[in-house]
Amino acid sequence: MKLVECWIEHPIRSLDQTYTYICKEEVKPGCRVQIALKNAKVTGFVEKVTETKESREEIEKRLGFEVKEILSVIDQESLITKELHDLAEWLHEETLSTMISCFSAMLPSKAKPSSSHKQAVTEKWVKISDIEVTLTPKQLEAFQYVKEKGECRYSEVRKHFPNQAKALLDKDAFILFEREKEGEEIEEEITSVPYLLTETQKQAMKEIEEADDPVYLICGVTGSGKTEIYLQLAAKALSEGKQVLILVPEIALTPQMIERVSTRFGKGLAIYHSGLNPQEKYEQYRMVKNRKARIVVGTRSAVFLPFHDLGLIVMDEEHDSSYKQDTQPSYHCRDIAVWRGKYHGCKVILGSATPTLESYARAIKKVYHLVTMDQRVNHELPQVTVVPMKDTIRKGESYILSDTLKEKLGQRLNDHQQAIILLNRRGYSSALRCRNCQEVIQCPHCDLAMSYHKDVKRMKCHSCGYEMAVPATCPSCGEKAGFSSYGFGTQRLEDEVKSVFPQARILRMDADTTSRKNSHKAILESFGKGDADILLGTQMIAKGLDFPNVTLVGVVNGDEGLNRLDFHSCETTFDLLMQAGGRSGRSKEKGEVVFQVYDPDHYAVVSAANQDYLAFFKNEMQFRHAGQYPPYTYMIALTVAGYKQENVDQLAELLYKSIRGPFKTIGVISLLKINDKFRSRILLKGKDLSQMQQAVRQFMDTTKENLNGLQIDVNPLYLD
Ligand code: ADP
Ligand code: ZN
Repeated sequence: MKLVECWIEHPIRSLDQTYTYICKEEVKPGCRVQIALKNAKVTGFVEKVTETKESREEIEKRLGFEVKEILSVIDQESLITKELHDLAEWLHEETLSTMISCFSAMLPSKAKPSSSHKQAVTEKWVKISDIEVTLTPKQLEAFQYVKEKGECRYSEVRKHFPNQAKALLDKDAFILFEREKEGEEIEEEITSVPYLLTETQKQAMKEIEEADDPVYLICGVTGSGKTEIYLQLAAKALSEGKQVLILVPEIALTPQMIERVSTRFGKGLAIYHSGLNPQEKYEQYRMVKNRKARIVVGTRSAVFLPFHDLGLIVMDEEHDSSYKQDTQPSYHCRDIAVWRGKYHGCKVILGSATPTLESYARAIKKVYHLVTMDQRVNHELPQVTVVPMKDTIRKGESYILSDTLKEKLGQRLNDHQQAIILLNRRGYSSALRCRNCQEVIQCPHCDLAMSYHKDVKRMKCHSCGYEMAVPATCPSCGEKAGFSSYGFGTQRLEDEVKSVFPQARILRMDADTTSRKNSHKAILESFGKGDADILLGTQMIAKGLDFPNVTLVGVVNGDEGLNRLDFHSCETTFDLLMQAGGRSGRSKEKGEVVFQVYDPDHYAVVSAANQDYLAFFKNEMQFRHAGQYPPYTYMIALTVAGYKQENVDQLAELLYKSIRGPFKTIGVISLLKINDKFRSRILLKGKDLSQMQQAVRQFMDTTKENLNGLQIDVNPLYLD
């Protein structure tokens, strides 16, 4: 008999411990099992298995409680490796999450503890038998085809030999068997060869190859050719027979990366991201597990794939906020990448034109090895013009498109070059205000204004997604005075550009035009082929795109982000301006950039205009120092959310009173209601993160309170 300790699949924090069961079947650590807990049937995730000669009675007597038998074993083989198990334990400590949520985060949904079915999808395969039969020449050909391959998908045989496949089965020349379905390998032809490196690239390569530091931060201006460095480093690791992981912010927005990897390396590529359906994801996961995938391009969760022998980890656009998960376990992909790099003894390369302050500060302290690339491949940085909107509007120019931007757009249309216009707000207008009482129409579920979307003639809440028709009467005063609109988004911008340039072909890319699968790709491909003159959209279009014919980028309301009450707001504004500008003039023609802003003297705007990361870094570090924000301190956000205001307030008060130590406990901060949930927050801030983690752990271990509404975010990115 076996004694099995397992974690319980349940979000409740008080169940964050292992429970003991007995099992007569074969079962391994890292497998899912079905168990009974009280009267419910739940999934368990096996932590430890010990053989015992004791009887059930003896075990119960020794342990002092009743032990039940496992109802069934779900998996035959372990879902995680020893490495991933250790990583889960580390994650559990660092992010103050439950163990089961850490295992869950690592697995594709089909293999998550919450999915308790053996969902393996199988497919038919054939191999040759050694029974002697007479075959026609064509049948012999099919027989040889399978013999050479050893084993082969039946569908493949049928495709090549539609008239022979079944006959060979009937004659018992083939043996048919079922196998768990696997991802189709991408069989891209190798069409791209390594570039001859520029001096800047050579220098960077040399530095990385000759040093033996574990983590490198490439701070390289947009278009300096960072991707080529990744690819050449990857080629080396692959040639040593190792696996390579390339992390990107969002696959849909970086189709060019996949193309560059697949045309360079051909076979053995797995792609892992949230756009795949559960079966597809599971297949890609299996490809990594079975060593079929040599190189993986993936988003945040790809950092948990079951690699055997990593030779390189690359994290492109290191500053991107999508690398942070804000729900339990609230990990940052960078930390996991560094952890795994250490485990595999491989180099970790972080790359960005605008590294996070945290990473750059670490690089200055030599925790990361700093590699600077300050020359573009084409040696030409774009020329930036800052338009002070307060002045131009006073002069009577449009508040959407300044005369400067209009003029430059006109030139591009004449010269058959392309332009990108970015406005980081979707919809038509940001709010509708009653002409009688001046109240803004709010989402009934959130404390937020609803946007008007002209394409569907409806109002949408950008936070919870609620939609409704524009009300006939004002929800506040009940009058039929009508509404005036307030603020503008990409739909309005599109109208404006169309009215100024009726002949221009425009593509719009924002959450409204990209809700269907593959729509991002379609828009970007279409723009890449030259089907449109202007691509306009939200921050989606600022990320890593490389269109040689784009020579103008305009950013509308470029400093709107500064109004956010968040210590990161200057950094995100600077990133957006720099990244957007970086899309211009990446090839032969020199590029231009126009920033339309209301505060042209703000250091985020000035340093982005000068494309001077270091100047921004120095200014921003002063601001962070003055406010004692990260990277000078660490923070833990404890957010309580719930449908009853009084329960939320009570728990928040308790947290505020109980979690004390040699750090600051700030609170209780009331937050906006979102999705019908009231929210309050306590913020811990201090120089020693582990002291704060311990204090929270201790509170959770000793409290009798129900902590279901508590979200813990260690090193939070956003505080709204
Ligand atoms: P980054 O990732 O730093 O923004 P990319 O790697 O996208 O820059 O490179 C910018 C452009 O320069 C791309 O179009 C790329 O194909 C091209 N490129 C990169 N390295 C070289 C090289 N050594 N020689 C010629 N072209 C290059
Ligand atoms: Zn809402």
